[in-house]
Amino acid sequence: MIPYGRQDIRQADIDAVLEVLQSDYLTQGPMVPRFEQAVAAKVGARHALAVNSATSALHIACLALGLGEGDWLWTSPITFVASANCGLYCGAQVDFVDIDPRTYNLCPTALAAKLEQAEREGRLPKVVVAVHLCGQPCDMQAIHALGQRYGFRIIEDASHAIGGQYQGDYIGNGRYSDIIVFSFHPVKIITTAEGGMALTNDDALASRMDLLRSHGVTRDPALMTHEADGPWYYQQVELGFNYRMTELQAALGVAQLERLDAYVTKRNALAARYDDVLATLPVTIPWQHPDSVSGRHLYVIRVMLDQVNVTHRAVFERLREQGIGVNLHYIPVHTQPYYRQFGFRDGDFPEAERYYAEAISLPLYPTMTPAQQDAVIAALTQALGHA
Ligand SMILES: *Cc1c(COP(=O)(O)O)cnc(C)c1O
Repeated sequence: MIPYGRQDIRQADIDAVLEVLQSDYLTQGPMVPRFEQAVAAKVGARHALAVNSATSALHIACLALGLGEGDWLWTSPITFVASANCGLYCGAQVDFVDIDPRTYNLCPTALAAKLEQAEREGRLPKVVVAVHLCGQPCDMQAIHALGQRYGFRIIEDASHAIGGQYQGDYIGNGRYSDIIVFSFHPVKIITTAEGGMALTNDDALASRMDLLRSHGVTRDPALMTHEADGPWYYQQVELGFNYRMTELQAALGVAQLERLDAYVTKRNALAARYDDVLATLPVTIPWQHPDSVSGRHLYVIRVMLDQVNVTHRAVFERLREQGIGVNLHYIPVHTQPYYRQFGFRDGDFPEAERYYAEAISLPLYPTMTPAQQDAVIAALTQALGHA
């Protein structure tokens, strides 16, 4: 099976992890800060906080922004459930904004219209989570301008997007958002096995997220409300969690980060080859905004259903039967049974639902060989009935 994505582990990665295993610290040592500083320097953010997953990063990001009961979080329906669940963790309510049919990202025009209505109804969101689907950044300038006007805070869910660029700068610099989140799951651009990171330019948000990832406990007298009993003293100042990243994971992250640009370059080269060859098939290839460089976490095609004599499901099944590990990113979150309990129905977000009826993620990962890519293309051609 040719997988839709997979990690690239080299000897340098293995050596880096082994070195930590034989060192004094398996957790809470020097490697996590080193990884954080390296990522922050790479993308141009002031603070970076490594955690055990992007899901945890989204959770502490929402808490740091003060999201809670009675508040609303809005995001795109075409995302992994974690982008929405972080609102529920905080006791907030979740709503969605339909996607732009060209980029498949949250549509700023739909957002503007929904905000206008929400203002009239007195239910404006406190937080908007902008998801950079497949690695292509959202229209952050437009979303930021709406945030200024309506007073919501912005989290970039950049789980797909580390190493990509927006308006000439690396995604993660926070010019148009409060907090940016990266994922280091093995299928993502770089990996720490499990892992995530929250980045911000705001000192207070960074300090809150630092507390929340480690039990809300501090040894810093400046953060305490009580005087220390003695040199052993620590104080719990918040209800936090254990969301820490280990030293082994951070060492892997530091080693992987060295190859970030090479990975993104390779992913874009593979995507360009798909673009060229698939242009003659009855599929819509991804549209890339000229303002940005995508991290190309995913390569999503849409089957032109009115031009083929086969269903979307049959194309998907035929590819799987041929050993092509295609996938579907994502089932619209509002159609998940868990989310229907909040009153969402089919038809609520028509562009997202149309996308879901046509989308297929083709295999794409940096170690993919030309022969593997040719096999995907041949199987797709056949599956569409164009052999
Ligand atoms: C992978 C992913 C997450 C969750 O990342 P984890 O590190 O697995 O918790 C969140 N949002 C999006 C868009 C993702 O793709």
